[in-house]
Amino acid sequence: MVSALEQYDPQIFELVRQESARESSVIRLIPSENYVSRAVMQASGSCLTNKYAEGYPGKRYYEGQQVTDLIERLAQERAKKIFKADHANVQPYSGSVANLAAYAALIEPGEMIMGMSLTDGGHLTHGWNVSLSSRFFKSVSYPVNPETGRLDYDHIADMAKKHKPRIIISGATAYPREIDFEIFGQIAKDVGAYHVSDIAHIAGLVVAGLHKSPVPYADIVSSTTHKTLRGARGGMLLCKTEHADKVDRAVFPGLQGGPHMHTLSAIAVALAEADTPEFVAYARQIVKNAKALARKLMEYGFKLMSDGTDNHLILIDLRNKKVAGKKVAKALDRARIVCNYNTIPGDTAPPANPSGLRMGTPAITTRGMKEDQVEQIATSINKVVENIDNESVIEDVAREMLLLCSQFPVPGHFIIPNQKNPDWMHAEDDITQRLF
Ligand SMILES: *Cc1c(COP(=O)(O)O)cnc(C)c1O
Repeated sequence: MVSALEQYDPQIFELVRQESARESSVIRLIPSENYVSRAVMQASGSCLTNKYAEGYPGKRYYEGQQVTDLIERLAQERAKKIFKADHANVQPYSGSVANLAAYAALIEPGEMIMGMSLTDGGHLTHGWNVSLSSRFFKSVSYPVNPETGRLDYDHIADMAKKHKPRIIISGATAYPREIDFEIFGQIAKDVGAYHVSDIAHIAGLVVAGLHKSPVPYADIVSSTTHKTLRGARGGMLLCKTEHADKVDRAVFPGLQGGPHMHTLSAIAVALAEADTPEFVAYARQIVKNAKALARKLMEYGFKLMSDGTDNHLILIDLRNKKVAGKKVAKALDRARIVCNYNTIPGDTAPPANPSGLRMGTPAITTRGMKEDQVEQIATSINKVVENIDNESVIEDVAREMLLLCSQFPVPGHFIIPNQKNPDWMHAEDDITQRLF
């Protein structure tokens, strides 16, 4: 059977096929990435992409909302239930837009926000200098303690007293330890600031009860929907009833036009999936796998920021290995282990070629991998780093990783890779055949 896409646009079809094959045949350790279920994929690729639904359920600007209202209400109710929040806005196009909406809901342009420094693990949109969040708002950044690699709450409280920001942002994009949202809430309260908490990375762990929730301690909680939460790509805001109208107005008409209803319906599906015992088991295994990865890599002499992890990710400090982050990330990519190079606290190397690597376990956990596979991956990572200039060792590792991938199929891929043409990758045909 030839699909409509293959028939109409063979070029894009072929590229989607190649990406599908790539995603199946690499060890995905980028902590912000995951594999959505077939059900999420199906909702996301549905006719809902055709519908304009500016406004909110019951208050739309176009007619024909008989179905969209029901879908959005379901998504809102599901989000409120699993996060135990008073109010949910499920329209933000992404985590970045959700953050800007959260700030716009609470303060005026030119007022000050205070978030975690990008180079220490914060996100661009927490006021980093190249982000619009630092052009519309004044911003100041708090570091982690360079000795411990951990947040220093006394220091953050001192900075809050000194700078008097209107918003304090908790949450991170590269921080391996549990964040105390209750203390952040108190620090904000003490200086009369709002507390915005960004749980983009850890939302799935929060839902499963494996990380303390910020919902009771934050004015607004912002999140993506596609990282550990494992939904379609988008953003979400949760808040108390008192901020509900401001949050809704900040998203629409403040920052966005029509919500992406196909994405929103796929997010609704993922929120239902997250409300199951299977999801809790998946989230538990993510943390177990991250701890196993940390343990094994430390056995091999790798230095980890804060000497381990409480969540889904680790940060490796490569300085004792005398090799730069980018070179290792690229060699690992050739070995079918995909991660990203990352700055580490106190890094003196430039951000374009920093001294660290960031790795996480959500995606491999979705594939069903457990501690045994994680240890094998850690051994392979060590092999690549020890043989960074030896391409034949790297090729051996790539073959081993392909075999491992073949035993743990990914869910949700609609486009079946073309069996007649597996030569997009330099791999043994028999393994490739088994994979696809
Ligand atoms: C990923 C991330 C975002 C941005 O999400 P996008 O959907 O890529 O815009 C915001 N905040 C944090 C902490 C993140 O990790």
